[in-house]
Amino acid sequence: MINDCIFCKIVAGLVPCTKVYEDDDVLAFLDISQTTVGHTLVVSKKHYDNFLATPKTVMHKVYDAAQRIGQAQIKQLGARGVNILTNCYKEAGQSVLHFHVHVIPRYEPADGFRIEMYENTHVGELNLPVLAGRISKGIK
Ligand code: AMP
Ligand code: ZN
Repeated sequence: MINDCIFCKIVAGLVPCTKVYEDDDVLAFLDISQTTVGHTLVVSKKHYDNFLATPKTVMHKVYDAAQRIGQAQIKQLGARGVNILTNCYKEAGQSVLHFHVHVIPRYEPADGFRIEMYENTHVGELNLPVLAGRISKGIK
């Protein structure tokens, strides 16, 4: 447990949460912001800084729970879609440095959550095979 980590405190029962699901390795609870109704966070019980820093066995368990929670949001809340999202490091929007996956039920396009991906204005200047090769080389 990391002392000043809010999610470690929630896992330890020191800070309250609205629990959705729990097993030996995973806890899921409602996100306090409720971006859309039912917005749920799935966290590893053990502290890892983010998805990229989490051992595979734990990461698989968190995503297994996220999948089942997304299915339940469709079935129980009448959601028509679900966004599964995890932010890694603050440059990517991570505000709590403890691995968590957002499971965000979607009801309609303008329901409070939006992901926008713009085409890079310099896409024509990129050497895509070289770029792909650089990434490939780093895969372990
Ligand atoms: P991220 O920005 O991806 O790190 O997401 C962190 C999320 O944690 C945000 O959506 C916050 O609303 C949520 N959050 C922060 N503190 C709490 C809390 N005490 N209980 C539930 N959700 C929280
Ligand atoms: Zn933590």
